[in-house]
Amino acid sequence: MAKRDYYDVLGVNRDALEQEIKKAYRKLAMKHHPDRNPDNPKAEEHFKEAKEAYEVLTDAHKRAAYDQYGHAGVDPSAAAGAGAGFGSFADAFGDIFGDIFGTGRARSNVYRGADLRYNLEIGLEDAARGTETRIRIPAMEECETCGGSGAKAGTSPTTCPTCHGHGQVRMQQGFFSIQQTCPRCHGTGKIIASPCATCGGSGRVKRHKTLSVKIPAGVDEGDRIRLSGEGEAGVSGGPPGDLYVVIHIKPHPVFQRDHNDLHCEMPISFTTAALGGDIEIPTLDGYARINVPPETQSGKVFRLRGKGIRGVRSSTHGDLLCHVVVETPVNLTARQKELLQELETISRKDAGRHNPRAKSWMDKVKEFFAD
Ligand SMILES: [Zn+2]
Ligand SMILES: [Zn+2]
Repeated sequence: MAKRDYYDVLGVNRDALEQEIKKAYRKLAMKHHPDRNPDNPKAEEHFKEAKEAYEVLTDAHKRAAYDQYGHAGVDPSAAAGAGAGFGSFADAFGDIFGDIFGTGRARSNVYRGADLRYNLEIGLEDAARGTETRIRIPAMEECETCGGSGAKAGTSPTTCPTCHGHGQVRMQQGFFSIQQTCPRCHGTGKIIASPCATCGGSGRVKRHKTLSVKIPAGVDEGDRIRLSGEGEAGVSGGPPGDLYVVIHIKPHPVFQRDHNDLHCEMPISFTTAALGGDIEIPTLDGYARINVPPETQSGKVFRLRGKGIRGVRSSTHGDLLCHVVVETPVNLTARQKELLQELETISRKDAGRHNPRAKSWMDKVKEFFAD
């Protein structure tokens, strides 16, 4: 849950004097004090919340840090939670959006950085086994010269006089009062009189960074790996976006992937198909042997259980399916032709027995023409 704004907790304005803060705290402390509310955890919570707000806002140093950075500026546990230390930032400002004009206090304009997408092409073997790779990405990062403020060294941005730092202006139109992005500062709430030369006032610069990406075993085409906080830097100290690494798998010369199954073509010779024999076939973990039984036809599929890929979200391996293709011999010598011719001559006498498929097909054709 988002931590409440300290000023909200005490019900005082952001420019409240220490006297007012003390007074507000005393009133709340009286009301919620555990002695006066025995066995009331809600009251105790309110009491603690008020005490914490009081302690921060009556300490000039802590109050300044809180005004600038929100809870992240004063609460080490809030900052440690999220990578870059901006964890509670959005939350703190989220509370403020509701009452921009209510209390008349200035609001910083903090935006989360954009998410980035990186297309990463990897081989099938790497996808199956998992790998670690380094990628170089262009990214907008906070300008070091100005620390992200966008103002030239020695100067600092001033509050926009049109919107008084709100970034929004209210216009009266008939009965309606509408809110618009301030045309003068474009919603940033600040005016930069002399912009930083390095970043041109944007507070961000384009850089390249190299990241190490861990690719889990079993990833498939289109899978996304999120690198939290590695996207573009935020605006005005806002949290960075995320980087999404999108996996693309290079076509493989032997295997085609279908989810967690692998398919491959298995060309066998005419003789092996007829007489049977052992065939060595490749798998992702080296060679395996398949015993091709005699009289194997083209198109027969051999399934090797567990020789496929184990998916990222799956506990079992897929299978490897080998599709038999009987290869017609080519570049025959005179002797080979002679032998085949001889084979044909002997086989023709009893064609129905040796080539049942061809025989039955021929019969159908004859029937067709006989009608
Ligand atoms: Zn700069
Ligand atoms: Zn403005």
